[in-house]
Amino acid sequence: MQYISTRGQAPKLTFEQAMMTGLARDGGLYVPETIPTLSADQIAAMAGQSYEDIAFTVMRPFIGDTFTDAEFRALIDAAYGGFGHDARAPLVQLAPNHFLLELFHGPTLAFKDFAMQLIGQMFQAALSRSGDRITIVGATSGDTGSAAIEAFRGLSNVDVFILFPHGRVSEVQRRQMTTPSEANVHALAVDGDFDDCQAALKDMFNDFDFRDEVRLAGVNSINWGRVLAQVVYYFSSAVSLGAPHRKVSFTVPTGNFGDIFAGYIAKEMGLPIEQLIIATNQNDILHRTLQTGEQIKQGVTSSISPSMDIQVSSNFERALFYAYGQDGATVAQQMDDLKTKGGFKISQGAYQMLRDTFASGSVSEDETLATIGGQVGVTNEVFCPHTAVGVRVAHDHLGTTPMITLATAHPAKFPDAVEQATGTRPQLPPHMADLLERDERVTRVANDLPALQALIKERITA
Ligand SMILES: *Cc1c(COP(=O)(O)O)cnc(C)c1O
Repeated sequence: MQYISTRGQAPKLTFEQAMMTGLARDGGLYVPETIPTLSADQIAAMAGQSYEDIAFTVMRPFIGDTFTDAEFRALIDAAYGGFGHDARAPLVQLAPNHFLLELFHGPTLAFKDFAMQLIGQMFQAALSRSGDRITIVGATSGDTGSAAIEAFRGLSNVDVFILFPHGRVSEVQRRQMTTPSEANVHALAVDGDFDDCQAALKDMFNDFDFRDEVRLAGVNSINWGRVLAQVVYYFSSAVSLGAPHRKVSFTVPTGNFGDIFAGYIAKEMGLPIEQLIIATNQNDILHRTLQTGEQIKQGVTSSISPSMDIQVSSNFERALFYAYGQDGATVAQQMDDLKTKGGFKISQGAYQMLRDTFASGSVSEDETLATIGGQVGVTNEVFCPHTAVGVRVAHDHLGTTPMITLATAHPAKFPDAVEQATGTRPQLPPHMADLLERDERVTRVANDLPALQALIKERITA
């Protein structure tokens, strides 16, 4: 299994190389050269299996000979052993034909743990084999940062730097990043928004001298390993509702398009998915793109679902690549137009493919609060604001096919919004109960690439 860039100009890589590299050297994102498929019998055999068993079957065809079967199985077991629920990703029923997939039972209480815990295990195994040391730099709208820190804190051959937008993450999200005391963890509060953080990160990857000098590695969802780990729960949840004999649909609260793109991969692998529905908050660039066929950047507005306050949605590039029949040159041109002209128009054929694959909806702040509040007394489920955006959009698409909405974070990560909606402040789980008392360690930085690069070089714990 080889990996190719969405912009067509970077060398083909193995799974291990693609995972350790992050962004391709032509600025593109790595995708598998062909998407492996699972037969209906293989999918049917997942019924009743553990999450780890299903994870092995789904991901094994993608990893080539990077790990032996026994090694890979052990990494999967280690990744999910610390989750607070035996099912890892339990499904609960909200209403007739509407189900919620709880993805917040990992150590940092957001779905990012599913990918990051596994990436942490895979990086460690690969680094201990090669003896290399690396510098991980990540950009976060709130949850990637804490998940990455949790996966890499204290490792001797890794420094982890996290860029987050100053003042635009919740207090719980910030404290999860600023309170770990390990010397290899560096939380950087950038004066800017998430798109600025992600642009700085991409610029670091495109500065080959810097990239090679610090041995830069990335764990944002530009990293194929992240997307791959997220494919698993589409299978585990669909099978528990009767796939492959019965179709299901998914609604996914979306920002950077990583989680929903994993759903597209599951579908291409043979999972019978009827609809994949993109749910956005007021930062609705993806919804507008699906409605109009044009992707045009606007400013980002802060919302009560901060992890989706994004306008430049990295992984959309992967969807475009498939929509254009794997034409890297066209993708490169459109991404260049997005960067230099602020937008691009999708060709008719590619737009048709996207409309056939995805539906979309966008939700206001008031509707988000009303959705959280409206659940009180109906079931015992308390939604985080991102999850509420998904549930609200899913309502408009309920039909005869079972709908699964992804619950992307625990409500206690966003206590202010949840309290405003329900009148009750959600409690952090016991392992985090003292989070608000712990000491913080953070460096405030300007949105300035050379200054950021200098700081990173100086801080690396040699
Ligand atoms: C990251 C995140 C999202 C958006 O996921 P993408 O893969 O970026 O689309 C939604 N909800 C929460 C809670 C998140 O942390």
